[in-house]
Amino acid sequence: MTDIEIANTIQLKPIGEIAAKLGIDSDMLEFYGKYKAKLPLSLIDENRLREKHLILVSAISPTPAGEGKTTVSIGLTEGLNRIGKKTTVVLREPSLGPVFGIKGGATGGGYSQVLPMEDINLHFTGDFNAVEKAHNLLAALIDNNIQSKTTSLGIDPRTVTWKRVMDMNDRSLRHIIVGLGGTASGIPRETGFDITAASEVMAILCLSEDFADLKERLGNIFIGYTYDKQPIYARDLKANGAMAALLKEAIKPNLVQTIEGNPAIIHGGPFANIAQGTNSIIATKMGLSLSDFVVTEAGFGFDLGAEKFFDIKCVKAGLSPSAVVLVATVRALKYHGGVKMDALKEENKEALRKGMENLEKHVENMKKFNICPIVALNRFATDTDAEIELIADKCRQLEVPMEVADVWAQGGKGAEKLARLTAKVAEQCVCRLHPLYDWNWSIEKKVETIAKEIYGAAAIDYTSQAKNDLKKIISLGLDKLPVCIAKTQKSLSDNPKLLGRPKDFIVTVRQIEIASGAGFVIPITGDIMRMPGLPDSPSAERIDVDKEGHISGLF
Ligand code: ADP
Ligand code: MG
Repeated sequence: MTDIEIANTIQLKPIGEIAAKLGIDSDMLEFYGKYKAKLPLSLIDENRLREKHLILVSAISPTPAGEGKTTVSIGLTEGLNRIGKKTTVVLREPSLGPVFGIKGGATGGGYSQVLPMEDINLHFTGDFNAVEKAHNLLAALIDNNIQSKTTSLGIDPRTVTWKRVMDMNDRSLRHIIVGLGGTASGIPRETGFDITAASEVMAILCLSEDFADLKERLGNIFIGYTYDKQPIYARDLKANGAMAALLKEAIKPNLVQTIEGNPAIIHGGPFANIAQGTNSIIATKMGLSLSDFVVTEAGFGFDLGAEKFFDIKCVKAGLSPSAVVLVATVRALKYHGGVKMDALKEENKEALRKGMENLEKHVENMKKFNICPIVALNRFATDTDAEIELIADKCRQLEVPMEVADVWAQGGKGAEKLARLTAKVAEQCVCRLHPLYDWNWSIEKKVETIAKEIYGAAAIDYTSQAKNDLKKIISLGLDKLPVCIAKTQKSLSDNPKLLGRPKDFIVTVRQIEIASGAGFVIPITGDIMRMPGLPDSPSAERIDVDKEGHISGLF
């Protein structure tokens, strides 16, 4: 059965019943139909949330298909609830672009899904739309100011870095000229569109703790320079109040349910390369306020998602996870051992043995943050017992606890052992997160520490553009911000072709972007796509709706 066919066999519970499990009165809910509701920020309890258990799910370096962090996060949540631990899964919202592009959703898979999956994947409660509008309002205000004769700030159109966004994979919008059509229609300039998930407004929404924080961060967005080289921020255009007003509902987390009727909070969806790649701080704190365990996910592999989760999100919000679950798959480890995508289903112990050096490096990396690590093997139907035993052996050798999770095929039942292990590790964990770097270090020292310690690089190289960017960042006084390195997820290095555990490589920083609203700078290594395109045969061609309004073809 496909994911949506499985989802359609489930009788959903009214969302009030799910809220009741969290001790929330129905009066507190803002209903979006029968099965979705927004949660008011007043439910966050700063005093209690730090006594609860935050479990981060991360992964080894993935194959292009994804290794199942979302699926394992959902399955582990079902498992923890089955063994009597009050647990909520807290996740990102899917972006529409990938839904219509290459097959693959963001609501889990098989018997580990969050529901109603068609709604969550399509529009949901309108948060992405609100982010898009807030972002594009600032773009409109910028072009309006450039046009104005009376209120002009003297913005040099050639320096404006703020683009427009749309939640669609549409490569033809990457580079455009606006302002054509004569004097009444603006000043022509070159700009472009990014996908909404790549908007700095999305990153800001997900790092804000309340409305005051949100407004201040929106005001701090850097958009470019004046002709006399003065920096211009969104607050100079008096944009932040109206932008925050557009986000009035989007700031509230969304409550939905898992296949087994457990609570799921889904909120925000920033990219995992140019942004922090994890759900909002507000949603994480909400989950921790309302249940004893929160299982959450950070995008791509541990080198990207988890590092940013710890060094940016946890430091900002004062959070410390009680356990970190590293998802590994037999197929990804064979891939790192040199097996091609189309041969991953066949047993290959030799390639697996070789590919396990990738797992080994990620386990070493986990230990650098002083957290309590666990490995979860996400079981695929084609995995053989001999292959799984090899990975179990490796984990014993690395002295990291490991369990098999069969959540895609079995839901929570397939995660009971992993849940028992996770609960035990979390409850016994006395470690406190040790961030890898101090925000006060220089940008170069921060980048060097991540690249050498986590990626395993020998040295760092800066292009002349990156060196100029560095000077600009220092002159703007933004060098004490954390770094959000944009790097390929396919390799521990910045070269997607280097699989396994690359050594003796040099990381090249090509440029450094400013996200002063979000509160980080973005050293960019390699080519990073902010407006994806559609494949030759997009999944949009297979999505349909029948006479009764039932959707088909969604994965
Ligand atoms: P991630 O969050 O790491 O990107 P997902 O959980 O979204 O990964 O899973 C990626 C894809 O792989 C999804 O289509 C999901 O249904 C599928 N998948 C995950 N785990 C399994 C499994 N054990 N067996 C088969 N398919 C799986
Ligand atoms: Mg995911």
